[in-house]
Amino acid sequence: MQLGITGKTALVCASSKGLGKACALALAGEGVNVVIVARGEEALELTAQEIRNATEVTVTPVCADITTGRGIDLVMAACEAPDILVTNAGGPPTGNFRDWGREQWVAALDANMLSPIELVRHLVDGMCERQFGRIINITSAALKAPVDVLGLSNGARAGLTGFMAGLARTVAQHNVTINNLLPGPFETDRLQKTVAALAAQKNISLDSAMQLRRAANPSLRFGRPSEFGSLCAFLCSEQASYITGQNIVIDGGVYPGIF
Ligand code: NAP
Repeated sequence: MQLGITGKTALVCASSKGLGKACALALAGEGVNVVIVARGEEALELTAQEIRNATEVTVTPVCADITTGRGIDLVMAACEAPDILVTNAGGPPTGNFRDWGREQWVAALDANMLSPIELVRHLVDGMCERQFGRIINITSAALKAPVDVLGLSNGARAGLTGFMAGLARTVAQHNVTINNLLPGPFETDRLQKTVAALAAQKNISLDSAMQLRRAANPSLRFGRPSEFGSLCAFLCSEQASYITGQNIVIDGGVYPGIF
């Protein structure tokens, strides 16, 4: 299927590794020029080179912390008018809510709610004027089936989801769509960290915890980041212009509900 987005530009946040990188790779594979962002310069440059080697698109790496005002300014200076925005940042730490004070909550809100909203504030009106825009927020399947140790994530992402749901309906008439992708367990660095926290809680080894987690998934495996990237690219396509305001779980079938 031709996705009809060749030559467009995507800003993909938090994309030197994991799911963000997979989205950048999938979009670049469709001929989309990509601006990729991360804090660590070495991994960012390696990813930029990997995408250049695999495609013919223009890749612009921006070394920035996307959860800060300064980071957002740097990114906006490098990419003023993208057609596609993928918001993403590292997930907050796991833990017990009794240990979290205002500082931890504000950090989680900055990363997983306020920074995506700020990016959208900068970009959505230009997308409306140009009559094309695709906004994808990477959130979490834990939004639909909250996990206690992910309380910071559950709270911040619920706020983001509520905000985006309202906004999506006001921009749809301009061919600007806003959808949230809710990953279940995918083979990334982040997964290792969250499973390690569960292993510590249950006093079992990381290997055992990983095996238990795989076995608990109806697909008996973790997701491959490329599968996530492909879904992201489709939602950014011309064909997906009638899909908006949705929360799309991609988790191998773990989430048991029918809605
Ligand atoms: P990952 O493998 O740890 O990769 C995170 C990427 O984001 C890296 O490139 C990292 O680079 C970048 N990053 C982190 N904080 C950043 C910041 N402040 N500014 C700019 N870049 C930043 O994580 P992932 O598994 O892809 O997860 C992506 C998101 O999906 C997270 O919010 C995570 O909570 C959520 N999620 C993941 C899973 C899963 O199973 N993988 C499941 C549910 C939800 P630097 O560190 O160099 O900045």
